[in-house]
Amino acid sequence: MVDNVNQIRQKLINYRRDFHEFPEMGWTEYRTASVVANELERFGYEVIVGERAANSGSRMGVPHQEILLEHEKRAIENGADPEWVNKMAGGQTTVIGRLKLDKPGPVIALRFDMDALPINENKSIKHFPVQKKFNSSYEGLMHACGHDGHVAIGLGVAEIISHQQELLGGEIRLLFQPAEEGTRGAKSIVDAGWLNGVDYFFSAHIGFQSKKLGEVVATVGGFYATTKMDVTFYGIASHAGQKPEQGKNALLAAAAATLHLHSITRHSDGVTRINVGNLYGGTGRNIIADTASLSLETRGESTELNEFMKTEAIRIIENTAKLYDVSVKWEIVGEAPGAKSNEELIPLIQKEITKMQSVKSVIPYMDFNASDDVVYMLNEVQKYGGMGTYMLFGSPLPAGHHQVLFDFNEEVLGIGVEAFVRLILASQKWQKLGNKPNVIIQAESTTKQ
Ligand SMILES: [Zn+2]
Ligand SMILES: [Zn+2]
Repeated sequence: MVDNVNQIRQKLINYRRDFHEFPEMGWTEYRTASVVANELERFGYEVIVGERAANSGSRMGVPHQEILLEHEKRAIENGADPEWVNKMAGGQTTVIGRLKLDKPGPVIALRFDMDALPINENKSIKHFPVQKKFNSSYEGLMHACGHDGHVAIGLGVAEIISHQQELLGGEIRLLFQPAEEGTRGAKSIVDAGWLNGVDYFFSAHIGFQSKKLGEVVATVGGFYATTKMDVTFYGIASHAGQKPEQGKNALLAAAAATLHLHSITRHSDGVTRINVGNLYGGTGRNIIADTASLSLETRGESTELNEFMKTEAIRIIENTAKLYDVSVKWEIVGEAPGAKSNEELIPLIQKEITKMQSVKSVIPYMDFNASDDVVYMLNEVQKYGGMGTYMLFGSPLPAGHHQVLFDFNEEVLGIGVEAFVRLILASQKWQKLGNKPNVIIQAESTTKQ
């Protein structure tokens, strides 16, 4: 098994560097998704894209049609397969790879997110992607979270698993998800039914709190529930010198709202967050600004705490508009609840992952203290009695996530692939022993005695 991962080590790096060089934001991952679709097909998977892969109406924050078209064109110019891009038109960039096996067994799903961020990658020679000449070729876009690595890991798992079919039963579903940033994509895959009947669900992120190569975190909890909103204030333009009193100042409303939003009270039940991440308005120095927009996000340690922040934010936005006598429209463009990994999986994951030569330590649990829309998937799997986990694959990070110098150690790719493959194979055994992991632990410790 280890041999297999070693055999594709360079390939994993090549995948990662290729995706890094052509970063694509949520719902525009045409090039990335077409590479994924082609590879999955080559490995013998049934490949599902379009409306069957993700429920169109459940997608959040989809860019306007002209932006989508522009990205479709650019993807093809940069080597995307036009046939796949065609099937993904309109921002349908989800790719599902399904392997239905002859023998009975568990339904196992894994999720890999694919999107990049609106960040200008650092161009200095100290940045590893610059040294190796795979830094972003798109101005203002960057894989600064590690999702380029996640897609590479997903393809590595797909290839190795395709050669292990005689050891497998049931069904394997590899979910390549668009638009994780802004928590906009996972729900559409859930609503298309891909988490229904899943017995075991595995997902992971490179880095975050796990910053040592060879460290694996078996389960992550403490996801912040979050809401992302776009807000626009509408006033009336007027000559700022001649008739300022005839204007209604949307810019002042947005600025005042920003200050008030950041002063929403703390909550005694736990951690909350708010951030207005951008603010712009007006058309010229001598004109009372007739429009101003801001984008904000709220977070909470629990779904209830985020709900409190969101309700307060909406109250402030609407009432600040009244204060300045302007109108306001707000729209939720991304949202995710809280969730927990199944802690029953900890001993089972520890047992498998500690067998790996490349792994030095397996940490049972860590709080995430961030958001990831994987929570929709975890919640759905658990709703039907399945079990799921979100893991961390440790790597030193020269700069934190979402920063211009973000990078990770590429050795983590092989670790991720081997960990997932081992878990897929091991969970076959869990199913045979009655789909109750705690029973297995007892059974195995008895045999050892
Ligand atoms: Zn991120
Ligand atoms: Zn991420």
